Amino acid sequence: MLGKSPAWQDVDGACSGYLVEDDATRLLVDCGSGVFSKLRGVCDYTDVDGVVITHMHPDHFFDLVPYACALTYGPRGHAGDGAGDGSPSPPQLLVPGGATKFLNTLTVAGGQPRLLDGAFAITEYDPAQPARIGSLDLRFQPVPHYVPANAVEVRGASGGRFTFGADHGPTHALDDFAAGTDLLFLEATLPEPEEHGERGHLTAAEAGEHAARCGAQRLVLTHISDELDGDHALAEARRAFTGPVELARPGAVYDV
Ligand SMILES: [Zn+2]
Ligand SMILES: [Zn+2]
Repeated sequence: MLGKSPAWQDVDGACSGYLVEDDATRLLVDCGSGVFSKLRGVCDYTDVDGVVITHMHPDHFFDLVPYACALTYGPRGHAGDGAGDGSPSPPQLLVPGGATKFLNTLTVAGGQPRLLDGAFAITEYDPAQPARIGSLDLRFQPVPHYVPANAVEVRGASGGRFTFGADHGPTHALDDFAAGTDLLFLEATLPEPEEHGERGHLTAAEAGEHAARCGAQRLVLTHISDELDGDHALAEARRAFTGPVELARPGAVYDV
């Protein structure tokens, strides 16, 4: 777990970012603000095979910009000293539909129009289709949020399943998708449900209810600010989910 902050970082924290590894492949799920620094703390960023973005909110993708700068201007980047003589191949970047245009708008405004598509091999994924990065199999499930968002499942060769719900309001979309998953990360952004308008996030109690319906083996509450009461969130989730549940802790490692 690289970062678990919601849309603003915890003290010394990072927004959404989870590194999934097996013997052969490294995959970064989300790359929100602050995540690139945390990634550098645990591995060489040129050794990451792919990045998948759940949705185009800044707390889930903003650090693609410094990541692309490192891949472009860093000492081993395409524009650095190593260019042309064995520079690492660009990581795959899987983004939701329409995100390429969105990212281009961002980089054009910043005066570096080719920054992201020069640094990454970008593909817009279709959430109805599975994907594969190295030895890891991915599946997607659209979830209700303020912009198009997708839960993602990563399955390794051993068959172990990690499921991340992304950001979403209450939904039955995960009931089958995440049924029996080994490790379920669900957002617990809210201390209380939104009072007005469309639902786009969960409380910890609702996260517990979702995990119970999925029959998850293990639940981790994430996307929760350090300004909220974590013990209260845990107690709320445990009222609905009787399996193991814990609060996201940056730096934590989970075996699946
Ligand atoms: Zn969001
Ligand atoms: Zn978010």
